[in-house]
Amino acid sequence: MLAVGDNIDAYCLKCKLVLAHVILFKVDEAVNRVKCKTCGAEHKYRGTMPGAKKTAAARNPAAVRTKKPVASKVVVNNAPQQWDLKSRNMPPETPIRNYSIKEIFKVNNVINHPVFGVGFVEKVVTDKSIYVLFNDSVRLMGMNVS
Ligand SMILES: [Zn+2]
Repeated sequence: MLAVGDNIDAYCLKCKLVLAHVILFKVDEAVNRVKCKTCGAEHKYRGTMPGAKKTAAARNPAAVRTKKPVASKVVVNNAPQQWDLKSRNMPPETPIRNYSIKEIFKVNNVINHPVFGVGFVEKVVTDKSIYVLFNDSVRLMGMNVS
């Protein structure tokens, strides 16, 4: 409990800073009057800089509000469903080529990867890379590398 004579941080109008003050007297247990230890001015107690609380409270919710839609954006991985659909619609005579980084693949080629299994070439990104839909996710794979 703070008492008269104790130090308290208060806003000094003369110094224009929150500085250490000495409590001069209290009214109903509330600090009423303080003396600035820096400049010696006596004045009414103010906990913080006037208006500081207001601007901080006004700024923060706005910042949170504008950021929230971006943060809550969820990337849906629907690769398993797409892969399932493609494999079911795949004609039985479709050739499945063993994947090799040295080979060249085209869109809609079906490949067999030793680790990821059967994959469908979704997109040719460059002459050396393709997007392949595997049963868990789409992966960027290399090709045409000698
Ligand atoms: Zn002062």
